[in-house]
Amino acid sequence: MNQYGQMKIEIQAKIQKVITDRKAWSQMLGDDVSNTNGIIKPYEMITEMDYYAWPGGYSLFYFTKDGGVLCPKCVNKNLELLSDEDDPQWYVIGCEMNEENDDMYCENCGEQIESAYGEDDSDE
Ligand SMILES: [Zn+2]
Repeated sequence: MNQYGQMKIEIQAKIQKVITDRKAWSQMLGDDVSNTNGIIKPYEMITEMDYYAWPGGYSLFYFTKDGGVLCPKCVNKNLELLSDEDDPQWYVIGCEMNEENDDMYCENCGEQIESAYGEDDSDE
């Protein structure tokens, strides 16, 4: 898994940034984080891991140390779990777009991860 070394460093750095930025953002908003009250989130603040690749808009998935796949929703819901190397089911080491795998499902919630180019070749 050496080829993922750099990607792992980048994705782990991003996870830490999202955790930090989320805290800072919620502090700016006060008690009611659902009401931004006209406060504009600073451009450099990232409070979510990406759902889609840009450019292209293709679905992204995250993969873990044990080879599992997680959807962006579960990644964003469980950010605190993603940096524990001793928990390989959750330790995220990379992120890719799903180009053509029509048979990819999130291992946490079971939701299908849409593919970009996959063809619907079922006979039914
Ligand atoms: Zn999921």
